[in-house]
Amino acid sequence: MYTNRPNAHTPAYTAHYSTNRPGPNVTDDYERWYTEATPNNRMLLSLRSGIDSEISWALDRLCRLCNNEQFMLRSIPGLMDALFEWPEWYLEQCEEDKTQYACLFSAPRETQRKRRHGLEALFILRNSAINEPNAVELANYPQTLPMLLQILQKVRPNTDSNTEFLLNAIEILQMIAVDLTFPTMSPAGSNPIPALERIIGHSTNRSLVIASMVTLNHLLSNPRNSSYLSPESPALGASLQYLSLFVDRPLVDASLNYLYTHLSHYSMAKAFLLHRDMPSTLNLLVSLLLHEQVEETVSLDISPPVATIPTTAVAQRDHELTQEELESLVSLPEPNRCYEWMRTMFVPKQEGELTQVEFWNLYKDQFSRFADRYPLLVASDVIKNVNIVFQTAQAMVLPGPPQKFVVRGVDRRKDSTASERFKCHWNRSQCAASPFNSPSELYEHLLAQHIQTYESSEM
Ligand SMILES: [Zn+2]
Repeated sequence: MYTNRPNAHTPAYTAHYSTNRPGPNVTDDYERWYTEATPNNRMLLSLRSGIDSEISWALDRLCRLCNNEQFMLRSIPGLMDALFEWPEWYLEQCEEDKTQYACLFSAPRETQRKRRHGLEALFILRNSAINEPNAVELANYPQTLPMLLQILQKVRPNTDSNTEFLLNAIEILQMIAVDLTFPTMSPAGSNPIPALERIIGHSTNRSLVIASMVTLNHLLSNPRNSSYLSPESPALGASLQYLSLFVDRPLVDASLNYLYTHLSHYSMAKAFLLHRDMPSTLNLLVSLLLHEQVEETVSLDISPPVATIPTTAVAQRDHELTQEELESLVSLPEPNRCYEWMRTMFVPKQEGELTQVEFWNLYKDQFSRFADRYPLLVASDVIKNVNIVFQTAQAMVLPGPPQKFVVRGVDRRKDSTASERFKCHWNRSQCAASPFNSPSELYEHLLAQHIQTYESSEM
């Protein structure tokens, strides 16, 4: 629709200045042509022109611009006045009998077009109010509150367009509600609270109910409006009723927030204790808490610790030098001591492998305490000697990464521990008796050596 609009001056402007500074932003909705802050702004002139197609074009354009965070109502002088004209016209149409047959007969085309202007203008105001400075601007504009109050009173949500119109009005009210206060004795029609309560209590339109509830909540959370709280408020009944619809998050949130504001007031909370729905509401709130909890599946082992005898006992372990072996080795001259030590500690085994560090440490740990009398071999000699003692074994480097220095072809000599299964461990393994061959021998030993002596000493 606006592709034929003259905006050809922009490239010329760019050409002049593009060399030393960025050109104007020509992205859609950012063009200077449309957002020029002058009373002869292109859109404002169209809005004012009285030509239907021009008005449509301007409103269409503004509907897109108002989503832009740079769109400021006050930057175009006269724009607010022009935008308010159409919702006010729409409002006049809703008075008295004019909409009585609206759902039966379609309105004349011209009326339909003007209605659309009213809807779009209010939509532009509503969208721009999301931006804080615009909301302030709207709150300070003298016509805003009177028009919103009239809409709340006169517009009935009996058609789609009326519902949309009403919804936008409620949402504008919501955005300017923070500082609105209404004196207790204000005349009927000068305060939106009864109208909002009526919509919450009677409307079946979910969007209207949510918007009204949020707005009412904003208004009533201001302590200076608390005189409008009432234990019989239809909003209380509705919020209790909608609280159970857990799947509908926005509705439940709005109900919950309203309930919070309502019950934050001391006398309302006191009155609610006697409310017939109080116990079931508590139930619902607890269910809601449970419903909102993040469910986490954890398994907790509550069985007592079970001690079992291993089915497969380790039947062998690495051989350690016995006291006699050590005594016979210690005084041997090196390298014979090293050879003998290896023969005692290791056996040839083709796939056996241990690291050179382990190998050296075994030697060092054994003999370093006698080093003052019988000097040790150096590590490299000890490791090299493995090849002299065991023909098949050798020290080697396995390529990495990481590199591994190993001795391959030998393994620790193993001692069988099978016989130790039946060793007496009486008194924390203090018993000196050698391992037995069968459980019955061990049993006899326990009985004779420990239990009977214990019993007789007790006597
Ligand atoms: Zn014993």
